[in-house]
Amino acid sequence: SPFIEVRNVSQVFRTTTRGEVAALKDIDLTIREGEFLSVLGPSGCGKSTLMRVIAGLVKPSSGDVLLRGTKVEKPGRDVGVVFQQAALFPWRSVKKNVLLSAEMLGLSKDVADERAEQLLDMVGLGHAKTLYPYELSGGMQQRASIARALLHDPPLLLMDEPFGALDALTRETMGLELLRIWDQSRKTVVFITHDVNEALFLADRVLVMAARPGRINELIEVNLPRPRD
Ligand code: ADP
Ligand code: ADP
Repeated sequence: SPFIEVRNVSQVFRTTTRGEVAALKDIDLTIREGEFLSVLGPSGCGKSTLMRVIAGLVKPSSGDVLLRGTKVEKPGRDVGVVFQQAALFPWRSVKKNVLLSAEMLGLSKDVADERAEQLLDMVGLGHAKTLYPYELSGGMQQRASIARALLHDPPLLLMDEPFGALDALTRETMGLELLRIWDQSRKTVVFITHDVNEALFLADRVLVMAARPGRINELIEVNLPRPRD
């Protein structure tokens, strides 16, 4: 079975001010293992909702998400998530932040510790393990949140506007870093962005989520095959 299948997913939010909002309507989508997929679309078109549904953070109003053939019903170990805000705990060092969920995940102290060290080296924070979040630049904070998302070695990394709060130059550097991390870790990456250049530059495949009146959420697929090594 495919790595991830989104089958006929719709999501309706009942709001007090806007009535029923259809954030997703009849979405079908297959994600291949190992690909770098971008989901591109304007603000409010439903990208975050789609990501949350895939991650099992939100149960869709209808339809299913299958991961290797099994229905995703709650956040599981197969997924790591990175959001626009790194949301690191200010009173914990970088390494302690990366280790935050180790216990909950049932990783032994030694295993978790070794993995945290490796991941911090991989994301380029080998020299910054003992620093505190306020001592880090925005780019470094996002590197830490990528390491944190990968602690349990999930096959899928979901990223929602991960570089949206960074300045343009840091954003480019982080994009290139992410490609290196993706190549080294062999994760499947789903990267949500409203930045056309970023989507086209980073991804193998771009899904454009249109949000026009009467044509909500149509997914248009653009393939940008890029040889991997
Ligand atoms: P994007 O990530 O593309 O900006 P979202 O998925 O965040 O889009 O939102 C899609 C639509 O659903 C928007 O109209 C948004 O206001 C609405 N929406 C998202 N989450 C909620 C929620 N929890 N409650 C009500 N409306 C929501
Ligand atoms: P050049 O020397 O032609 O600028 P680059 O590889 O540095 O070659 O960049 C090619 C194009 O891709 C440029 O327009 C650049 O702005 C853009 N680009 C480079 N890195 C990124 C990135 N991480 N995200 C989005 N666009 C990028």
